[in-house]
Amino acid sequence: MSTETSALDFVVTPAAHRMAPEDRQRLLADPGFGRLFTEHMVRIDWNRDRGWHGAELRPYSPLQLDPAVSVLHYAQAVFEGLKAFRQPDGGISAFRPDSHAARFRRSARRLALPELPESIFIEAIDRLMSIDGEWVPSAPEHSLYLRPFMFASEVGLGVRPSSKVTFLLIGSPSGSYFPSGVKPVTVWLSEDFSRAAPGGTGEAKTGGNYAGGLLAQAQAAEQGCDQVVWLDSQEHRWVEEMGGMNLCFVFGSGQKARLMTPALTGTLLPGITRDALLKLAVDLGYQAEEGRISTEEWRAGCADGSLTEVFACGTAAVITPVGSVKSARGSWTVGDGKPGEVTMRLRQSLVDIQRGAAPDPHEWMHPVGRIA
Ligand SMILES: *Cc1c(COP(=O)(O)O)cnc(C)c1O
Repeated sequence: MSTETSALDFVVTPAAHRMAPEDRQRLLADPGFGRLFTEHMVRIDWNRDRGWHGAELRPYSPLQLDPAVSVLHYAQAVFEGLKAFRQPDGGISAFRPDSHAARFRRSARRLALPELPESIFIEAIDRLMSIDGEWVPSAPEHSLYLRPFMFASEVGLGVRPSSKVTFLLIGSPSGSYFPSGVKPVTVWLSEDFSRAAPGGTGEAKTGGNYAGGLLAQAQAAEQGCDQVVWLDSQEHRWVEEMGGMNLCFVFGSGQKARLMTPALTGTLLPGITRDALLKLAVDLGYQAEEGRISTEEWRAGCADGSLTEVFACGTAAVITPVGSVKSARGSWTVGDGKPGEVTMRLRQSLVDIQRGAAPDPHEWMHPVGRIA
């Protein structure tokens, strides 16, 4: 993949001054999440006449934007989030970049943005990693979070699909989501707000879905909860997602455990971690299926012991156990409120594949950054 020749000419402009290795090491010791950025970025422009052009690998820097640039007013934009991991041989591999590239195209289509070919999406990652590979941390559970995004860059207040678009790729070293051990979260079942509705943009990775969710997240915090759980927008009954992550439910225990995740109805974001866990669960000997669960069934299952574990999954935190649930109609605990056995086994299996400590039977890991 990294040897594929590009349909685009990339202009490479390295930063004039590079950070000293010891300074970078100091930053990488405690990267946190989404607050440190590598020294370069990729930029590609699109317009209606020329298509994709002007590809650059250049120093990370602020953008200069006209105040009337369309995205600031009408939010025509999409993004992705994926991770690159340091491998035992010192190389760098990204987790399922092909799946992220395909989802980026689907999101773009929904937002009436041009589709970036998968090969260019992956070349952008290769290019950035070829120059900023030293920014990929090597500590266990640390990674480089890659953020590709695209926005309407036409200047003007008319409402229409932009005739100019800017694609950017930036990289952010990230630490373990749970530096002091995996800790279950408390969730609030939101009945006042919906994240997505049939026919809306819930299936696309677009910032507006997040903006619309912030008030519900604040309400969850007011209730003493860590995260908001989204229910279907019509009956406020069927469980969809948790914050920016998908949800999985475990029934039974031991080798008889069965994993169930809400089916993709069009209002859920099709998570790539979710998809990977459906396959990994089968590899580990569990049953795995897509289905649906109501809030009453969630509560009853916890009460009678048939529903043993619940967790959320996504690229940033991998797997987050759900320990307890709060709603306007009462609260309950999931299992004993601690991370479950199936949850932690799935988490470890996925993390081991990502850091190259276990075989990768589904070919999810793709070496990146080996451009001459
Ligand atoms: C990105 C995202 C997810 C998780 O997707 P992954 O591909 O697993 O990272 C789940 N829900 C929402 C709303 C998201 O934006």
